[in-house]
Amino acid sequence: MLRSLYLALKNLFSKPQTIDYPLTPIPKDKEYRGLIEYSEEDCIYCLKCEKACPPGAILFAPTPNPSENEKNKKGLEYNYNPYLCIYCGECVRACPKPEEALWQSNKKQEVALKEQEVNEKWFALEKKHQAFYQAKRESKS
Ligand code: SF4
Ligand code: SF4
Repeated sequence: MLRSLYLALKNLFSKPQTIDYPLTPIPKDKEYRGLIEYSEEDCIYCLKCEKACPPGAILFAPTPNPSENEKNKKGLEYNYNPYLCIYCGECVRACPKPEEALWQSNKKQEVALKEQEVNEKWFALEKKHQAFYQAKRESKS
């Protein structure tokens, strides 16, 4: 009985174990594996990150009418879907230029709003990507 009373009083005057989310942001662990970041200048367009990504969250999609500069980059443009990403870090492990061309930050992705049509835009990009490689295969055969 006395012990229960003691615990009740102790809990009443101690700091709460929970945080006032979303008013107080959740503290991040130093080792937190967050968003993938990319540097176009350092990328050599080997596409190893795209191939290594389990859910297909990285896509190098063709850019229409690439400029001379972009042709040097195989006319491809890096795209990353943070909502598909499982934050495994496989892309960075596969990259020949980790921490330069590709790295994993400890940043968090904002929650997407319905109006942002994240999936629709990504599906359109995937279609473009598939069509591009299909045309490439057909031109070789
Ligand atoms: S962290 Fe994993 S899921 Fe995210 S882009 Fe890299 S390989 Fe893909
Ligand atoms: S693996 Fe690295 S260098 Fe290769 S395409 Fe991806 S980001 Fe660029």
